[in-house]
This record gives sequence, structure tokens and C-alpha cells, in this order.
Amino acid sequence: MIEKTDISAPPVLSLVVPMFNEAGNLDTLFARLTQVMADLGESYEIVCIDDGSKDDTVARVLEHRQRDPRIKVVELSRNFGKELALTAGLHHTSGQAVVMIDADLQHPPETIKEMMAKWRDGYEMVIAVRRDREQETAFKRLASKAFYEMFGRVSEVQLPPGAGDFRLLDRKVVDVLNAMPEHARFMKGLYAWVGFKQTIIPFDVADRAHGETKFNLFRLWRLAIDGITSFTSVPLKVWTFIGSLVASFALLYGLLFIVKTLILGIDVPGYPSLIVAITFFSGVQLISLGVIGEYLGRVFSEVKNRPLYVVRSAHGCRREVDKG
Ligand code: UDP
Ligand code: MG
Repeated sequence: MIEKTDISAPPVLSLVVPMFNEAGNLDTLFARLTQVMADLGESYEIVCIDDGSKDDTVARVLEHRQRDPRIKVVELSRNFGKELALTAGLHHTSGQAVVMIDADLQHPPETIKEMMAKWRDGYEMVIAVRRDREQETAFKRLASKAFYEMFGRVSEVQLPPGAGDFRLLDRKVVDVLNAMPEHARFMKGLYAWVGFKQTIIPFDVADRAHGETKFNLFRLWRLAIDGITSFTSVPLKVWTFIGSLVASFALLYGLLFIVKTLILGIDVPGYPSLIVAITFFSGVQLISLGVIGEYLGRVFSEVKNRPLYVVRSAHGCRREVDKG
């Protein structure tokens, strides 16, 4: 079902809310967003992306839409993941400024007021940065710190630590992001890559209102790999270096062995060191093959050139840009 396209003037602010099984959070979410928007007094739309929810998220959002037509809904045909849900959301916005916010109320809607103030001051991107991550496990915090550290070293762009998807983008920035055709979308990297006049404001992460996080360790690992492989080819090149290092080491060791044999004669032991060497270098080879595989996989998925996501139906959205 495609409703008649909205032809009223574009709003000042578009909110993009990705939703995957968030039915339990919707009433509070819309109540708080509406309150904040009323305080701001700007025209707005709320673009909700249903990322293939299995619960009654869509039905519930559509109920809210009955009440308030500024709530718009884009239903994806299945779960495409948060990065693509956000991409779909950006494609369907028309506001002069766009704020992306999670549906689980971990991003306090009140922060939007500060973001708008910064935007009025002329900033084209306002990044909300988490003040603390106390709620998360020590392991997740450590892993994320390690990831940012490494990413900053090897890639061409810098990610502010603690910055997530909660941010305001000016229309100019949204248009640039929308024009990017890549399939593996690591949004945090893309935001950093586009540049523009950026500023940071701190916020406190709230507890998830209802339901559970959708990001398990495996998904986070995939996201980290996506991030690294889309923004640097260092892991691909580092193998030339490691390979030469290992080869020269092996050569030296061989020489040493020949000299030793000439002086001391042949000694039978050496079996354990042999096994150690074989398993170690097999490991190194498998890792390097895996790294090449990651990049090749990406090339493959870009070359197939499939659409980034599939929309089942869109309710009330003014425009949808070319998905590239
Ligand atoms: N989300 C989504 N698709 C997914 C996973 C998550 O649209 O495949 C949405 C989810 O509904 C929420 C936001 O992305 O609005 C953040 O997800 P979550 O709270 O699970 O992540 P966390 O806060 O733990 O990083
Ligand atoms: Mg969350």
C-alpha cells in the first residue's frame, strides 16, 4: 500500500528512528518526542523505519500515524540491520536538518533541543557523545576502546570515541551521504569521511526502556570488520611486511641450522620446534587468507550492485532519493 505522497512544504526537522522489535517502547517514545518538538516549536516529521520487526511494531506505529500524520513509516521487507535502516531513513527524509535517534529511549530526546541550538549556530553536524558507558560490561567497554584506538591508527578518518548514531545532520550532509553508493555501510565512518563543520555535545546514555539490545558479540564483530575494511586497506598490505619478516627470519634460522650441522653434526631432536613452526605459520597463512577474503567479499558485494534495502511500503514519505 503506497499512500498519496505528501505535498506540503518540507519540515525544518526530520527525525529518523530505526525500529527492530520495539513495540513496547513506542508510546513513551512518541510522547517524549512530541513533547520535545512542542517545546522547540519547529515543523517536523518523524520517519520511522521498520527493519523487519517480528512483533507488532508496524501496526503500533501506524496507529500513532492515524493520530499524528507527521509520523511517517517506511517498512523494509526484512531485517537489513541498523546501518541500512538508517540509510533508508536518510533517503526518506526531507527536513533541512535530520536527527537520528534510537527507538529504545537510550538517546534522551531532550538532547535534540541542544542539537538544534548548535545547528542554528551554523554547525552542519552535531554529534552527541556518550558521557559514560557504565551500564556496559567491562569486556564490551574494553573491546570498543581497543577498536576505536586501532581504527584511529590505521584508517584515514578519525572517529570521536563515544560517538554513535545519535546526531544531527544538515541537509547538505544528508545529500552527500545519500549520494554514496557503497553497500557495506559503516555509518560512523561515513559521517567522519564527509567532513563539514562538526561539533560535539555530551549526553548520558539511559537504560534501554523495553526489550533487549539487538547487538550481540557476533554482530559487533561484523560491524568492526565492516568498519575497518571499508576505511583502510592496511590489513591487506600488512601481510607483505609480515611475510617478508617471517621469511627473513626463516632464512636466518636455516643458515644457523646449516652452520650448526657442519660444526656439531646431525642431532635427531628438533621435532617439537618443527611442529610449532608449522602450526604457527599455517595460522599466519590462514589469517592472511581470511583478510584477503574479507576484502574480496566486499568487492563481490559491491560488484553485484543490488539495492541496499527493499521497501515493502512507505506511508506518507515525501521523497525517496535514488538508491544508487
Ligand atoms: N535496530 C534496527 N535494526 C537492527 C538492530 C537494531 O533498526 O537490526 C535499531 C533498534 O530498534 C534501536 C537501534 O537500532 O532503535 C539501536 O539498537 P539497540 O538498542 O539494540 O543497540 P544498542 O543500543 O545496544 O547499541
Ligand atoms: Mg539501545
